[in-house]
Amino acid sequence: MSIPLVNLQRMHDSMRDEIQNAINGILDRGDFILGDEVKEFEMEFAEYCGTKHCIGVGSGLDALTISLRGLGIGQGDEVIVQANTFVATALAVKHVGATPVLVDHDPEGYGLDTRRVAEAVTDKTKAILPVHLYGQPSDMDEINEIARENDLLVIEDGCQAHGARYKGQRVGGLGDAGAFSFYPGKNLGGLGDGGAIVTNNDKLAEWVRSARNYGSTIKYHHTVQGFNSRLDSIQAAVLRIKLRKLDDWNAKRQHAATVYRKFLTGSAIDLPTQLTGRDHVYHLFVVRVPRRDDLLAHLHEKGIGAGVHYPISINRQIAMEDCCKVPQPLPESETLCDEIISLPIGPFITEDEIETVATEVATWVKENAHARGGAAPIPV
Ligand SMILES: *Cc1c(COP(=O)(O)O)cnc(C)c1O
Repeated sequence: MSIPLVNLQRMHDSMRDEIQNAINGILDRGDFILGDEVKEFEMEFAEYCGTKHCIGVGSGLDALTISLRGLGIGQGDEVIVQANTFVATALAVKHVGATPVLVDHDPEGYGLDTRRVAEAVTDKTKAILPVHLYGQPSDMDEINEIARENDLLVIEDGCQAHGARYKGQRVGGLGDAGAFSFYPGKNLGGLGDGGAIVTNNDKLAEWVRSARNYGSTIKYHHTVQGFNSRLDSIQAAVLRIKLRKLDDWNAKRQHAATVYRKFLTGSAIDLPTQLTGRDHVYHLFVVRVPRRDDLLAHLHEKGIGAGVHYPISINRQIAMEDCCKVPQPLPESETLCDEIISLPIGPFITEDEIETVATEVATWVKENAHARGGAAPIPV
């Protein structure tokens, strides 16, 4: 038996002809970089997110870095980030020369804890960078309110939450800019690296459009010191096909989560909390268990591709240790790392596979339940 964390094989088998036709079109036209497919995808993804602009870039990290740079964030500035995110979120802040200020996440939804944000604001703070982690939006009303009160920018890291809604509105368009990754395993992913920035800010859009392409909109006329961070036509063509299926795929992820709940309710494990007013698109189905490493090893032995997102909080990553500011202790992030486990999920997982995984987890937890809370059984 083998149940991968996300089954991309099944996804691509279901659309192999569409993909091959699209790639053939590009071979015929020869517009490999920033071609017609990229322009079309940018219009379609902007419309999907409910924003005026979408600009395709090379990766999610680039989408974050270039939007921060385009919004004027740099040396001496502080940006508030949650400590339980993927390294890219904090790395982007570092890459523009600013300081990531790490705060804890909301223990219920795993997004940015807004109570921690207000107390982390200083006179150097320029922006808040909430992550819609695992596919569930952070509390954007609260974040935008804190931003308004303190005159801060808001950049959303939507890399795990394509299509998720906060109070009915898609993520990405809720702040000053939204960053997306199209890494193959994301809810909307290409056949390689890719990313996009969405925004309603005309000036930012214009700057990013030039900056991603060596700072030029007219060939060999360079107006800003730019990057080489362009979405290529093959990725855009594949993303256009997948975008048409995204809502259906997200609904299938939500259904898979419901099936997990059916099988796991009553087990001594913490299931993900679905917060009101938010659409969770289940990029990951993250549960909490005691003795996580033992369960992880057990599932791997059974051929189940569980993962950990993430095993080390940003403040403990060797690359980031000395460069972040940590105004308050991070008890939530640090305990989380030892307890979380991501179970296989995706639009192509079957109910039988979910049952198999859930049964393995529930049985293991039952047999090892005495370890909950770290208390060893008392020897008699
Ligand atoms: C994947 C991811 C990124 C980075 O995207 P890349 O395309 O790999 O550069 C950033 N933030 C979060 C939360 C992610 O999950």
